[in-house]
Amino acid sequence: MAERIASEVLAERVRGGDPRAIARLITRAESGESECRHALAALYRDTGRAHVVGITGVPGAGKSTLVSELARTVRADGRRVAVIAIDPSSPFTGGAILGDRIRMSDLVSDPGVFIRSMATRGALGGLARPALDAVDVLDAGGFDLVLVETVGVGQDEVDVVRAAHTTVVVNAPGLGDDIQAIKAGILEIADIHVVSKADRADANRTVRELKSMLMMSMPEGPEAWQVPVVPTSAETVTGFGELLAALDRHREHLYRTGEIETRRRRIASTRVVKIAEEMVREGFLKARRERIEAMLERVVARELDPHGAALELLDTVKERIRDDEQAV
Ligand code: GDP
Repeated sequence: MAERIASEVLAERVRGGDPRAIARLITRAESGESECRHALAALYRDTGRAHVVGITGVPGAGKSTLVSELARTVRADGRRVAVIAIDPSSPFTGGAILGDRIRMSDLVSDPGVFIRSMATRGALGGLARPALDAVDVLDAGGFDLVLVETVGVGQDEVDVVRAAHTTVVVNAPGLGDDIQAIKAGILEIADIHVVSKADRADANRTVRELKSMLMMSMPEGPEAWQVPVVPTSAETVTGFGELLAALDRHREHLYRTGEIETRRRRIASTRVVKIAEEMVREGFLKARRERIEAMLERVVARELDPHGAALELLDTVKERIRDDEQAV
């Protein structure tokens, strides 16, 4: 077996944009290896340049097709692009190549493109922490855009999208019959709406309906962001330049209005809370069973009240976390 490279060394290579080092460090981050934590902490200081874009929509909306075309458009513009595809049903763990994404095969061999799929099923503590660690690695690795694609179902997926600077909601034609984005509760989170499959006859109607729906909730004022509706078609390869232009405009808007700071705080809050949750969850699992059992016995015997027991339990978990931290 090849000798293991220290995460600090990988981090150095990540800064140089080495795709293998990026992939390996993401794998370590994803599996929550404590050895890589110092390296990730050091890399974090080098982040903040990438434009992180969350792309969401119901299954079948056309997200993965759109992401491939958008990635191509970004490349044609001479920028580097990374894709993190979060697949809630994938049985793969740790960096499965998107084998089924034939559309992406030309992109896979391009060093200016990085594609990574992450499974969510069975991921302890959800997917936000590993996905956002991966975003950091890609940001530090010099990618200009990081596209995080996720199905808009479940709180976990929404958390990931909320950790983006710009959120794109993909709507397939036929919105009126089956108001997908509203049903999925993701209409409001969009900074940009895309109507995919614009080659289809019913696409215009969906664009009109979305626009009129948005009219009712548009914030007013000269500085307010007007959520655009961008039709795209992978079939006729149209609309992706407009989508990239809308992304750039939104980024510029965030910086000009100072909204970027609000979003950065929101992202920081999501991340810190997620990490703490994961620590507590793991601490519970690792806390010695007998200790918990003994405490429960005291509650049953009415020597200790449930509230007091919960506080004691948290202390135990905290000790456990501290022990783990010192072991790193
Ligand atoms: P996802 O589940 O949201 O990732 O959706 P996919 O990208 O897998 O697309 C779902 C289906 O819509 C597939 O059968 C695609 O071929 C089809 N599709 C995607 N984009 C377009 C498009 O621009 N035009 C047409 N006509 N079909 C499309």
